[in-house]
Amino acid sequence: MELHGQNFIGNKAVSANPKTFTAFAAGSGEKLPPLFHEAAPEEIDAALALAARAFEEYRRKSADKIAAFLDRIAEEILKLGDELIQRAMAETALPEARLTGERARTVNQFKLFAELVREGSWVEASIDHAIPDRKPLPKPDLRRMLVPIGPVVVFGASNFPLAYSVGGGDTASALAAGCPVVVKAHPAHPGTSELVARAIVVAAEAMGMPNGVFSMVHAVNTELSLRLVKHPATKAVGFTGSLQGGRALFDAAASRPEPIPVFAEMGSTNPVFILPGALKKNANGIAEGLAQSVTLGVGQFCTNPGLAFGCGGTEWRAFVEKMGQLAGGVAPGTMLHAGIASRFREGAEKMGNISGVTLAGKSSAEAPGRAPALVFTTDAKTFQSNPVLREEVFGPSTLLVHCGAAQDLEAIARSLPGQLTATIHGTDEDLAQHPELVAILREKAGRLIFNQFPTGVEVCPSMQHGGPYPATTDSRFTSVGAFAIKRFVRPVSYQNFPDAALPAELKRLNSRNLWRLINGKLTQADG
Ligand code: NAP
Repeated sequence: MELHGQNFIGNKAVSANPKTFTAFAAGSGEKLPPLFHEAAPEEIDAALALAARAFEEYRRKSADKIAAFLDRIAEEILKLGDELIQRAMAETALPEARLTGERARTVNQFKLFAELVREGSWVEASIDHAIPDRKPLPKPDLRRMLVPIGPVVVFGASNFPLAYSVGGGDTASALAAGCPVVVKAHPAHPGTSELVARAIVVAAEAMGMPNGVFSMVHAVNTELSLRLVKHPATKAVGFTGSLQGGRALFDAAASRPEPIPVFAEMGSTNPVFILPGALKKNANGIAEGLAQSVTLGVGQFCTNPGLAFGCGGTEWRAFVEKMGQLAGGVAPGTMLHAGIASRFREGAEKMGNISGVTLAGKSSAEAPGRAPALVFTTDAKTFQSNPVLREEVFGPSTLLVHCGAAQDLEAIARSLPGQLTATIHGTDEDLAQHPELVAILREKAGRLIFNQFPTGVEVCPSMQHGGPYPATTDSRFTSVGAFAIKRFVRPVSYQNFPDAALPAELKRLNSRNLWRLINGKLTQADG
């Protein structure tokens, strides 16, 4: 399928704006055709006006129709075949196996949301019957459920060109909720974005969805990104990327005449705490697991463990030495785009220049333009007196921090900012001796991991991918898994409505067999 460098304003492919940009092959920096047309400001406005109009119809579609649409998107993405994988490989330098796996995850996300919508209980229907003769005042009939919030703007991530990009988890969960979506494609993989956008448009047309239920715009200009967020039709934003980017969009959304929610997932250092018993018992095993987690995908995961804390004398020294050796054996990798590579170099340089921080190991092979695996080490005092060491260095790097005593681990944990994940390696005795560490880390992170590593985010209802700021802008929600749909809805109560005027989910007859809370009891009965 030929690429045209187009935007999709609803179902219409548009390339009218003479302002263009180029895609680059990650690593070689070679230009990849075609030229991509940035969306003009009025095209962005048109996409959002269409989304607002499409919402009027889309929100009234039956659950079965929306589920069928999501399933069809999954099918159309698969139909893109090898071309999608080849283009994503060229644009991101991610290996074929990773991208094939990511495509499966992307397709399964659409299917998971289709199932959720078909089953229907996610709307949290709640019914309280009237008690007209209640004294001193009668109780009215009240029926509450979740309804779609309206058009959602999605900012595709650079590090998941499929699963968290144009057809990623944010798009799938917003469409599942009943919200039209306008995606701002990430400029690091515009060709991949165009292919996926076309598949979604084909699915929308084939399934009779209103024009404007999905749009995708290209932009390499922060003004245009802000325009998307500030447009009055936009009712929520999903974002994955840097703290600076997420914060800028969050601030723009908060300063609108009508503020709207921004669900930004911005990254984390994902601290790992190694307790004394575990270090004694399994230092080599932990080092191997940690090194693998740090260097997986050239360290370009938001769950990459950038900090590890432990104590002990000879065991800690042996652990640091082993980590250094393991880093030495890792081949330098190509990063997703030049910006990420230069930020990694700067971050690593800044860390290495701090007095008291030393390099414990580095990829021994040299490969210009590629990112080496890096292991730094320092002590708790240096760590505590240099706040910059708490910042994420996005890439294959970790900092091992030696604490004088196990109690110091708690003080360090208390001093950390919010995280996506926090990991503890310990024996049962370690855990029994450090209950406070678990309690502190629960306040800091969205996912607590025991004796495993944070990379690898399972897509299922029990996953929480989101933690206190600055990991995300709203730690009450997850951006991965079935509950991601809750970001794009709001609750509405109907008081004293005749049955005929109620939505199917709240009618007396429970025709969809939903689980509903009736007078405080969860049941599938009529209500
Ligand atoms: P990014 O720079 O935050 O960009 C993500 C998206 O937001 C892009 O579409 C970008 O558009 C837009 N954007 C960024 N800053 C903006 C601003 N100030 N105003 C309006 N829009 C803005 O993320 P990235 O390019 O993927 O990677 C850069 C850094 O983000 C990495 O070095 C890493 O630290 C972090 N990162 C984190 C995660 C994570 O999972 N949390 C994932 C990837 C990257 P333009 O490109 O057009 O500016």
